[in-house]
Amino acid sequence: MTAARVLDHVFGAPPIAGGLFDVDASGAPFLMGGHCDQCDRYVFPYSESCPACLSGMKHVRLGGEGVIYSHTTVRTKPPYGLPQPYSVAFIDLNDAPLRIFALLDHSMAGGFRIGDRVKLKVGVIGHDGEGDPRARGYFTLKDSR
Ligand SMILES: [Zn+2]
Repeated sequence: MTAARVLDHVFGAPPIAGGLFDVDASGAPFLMGGHCDQCDRYVFPYSESCPACLSGMKHVRLGGEGVIYSHTTVRTKPPYGLPQPYSVAFIDLNDAPLRIFALLDHSMAGGFRIGDRVKLKVGVIGHDGEGDPRARGYFTLKDSR
């Protein structure tokens, strides 16, 4: 089995795009992004060149935990078979000086608060442009309330 097929099995479907997330030895998912050694900038998702100084970037792990900076719940008909409603957030990552835009756990849509500590999970959510199921990363509460 190739590494990509192993991950498809772990996640239940192929990822919506390659290079966004992976799992560590314990099975915990983490985000993958880029880091620029010239100006110390981090990006997610990975980019071949730094958006600040155009230097080449290297692949880095960005961890799988953070804090909600801001969030909203989308109640209109979602694209790509996403659940309705679904919540999205800007999340400040714990392991890199980076604020990312991400899906939140749809089973708690509308139930998040600014400042909530969240952790990454990966599951089969929606589909791709061809209608095939796809694994997507999303954040859920790190601690129960
Ligand atoms: Zn740079």
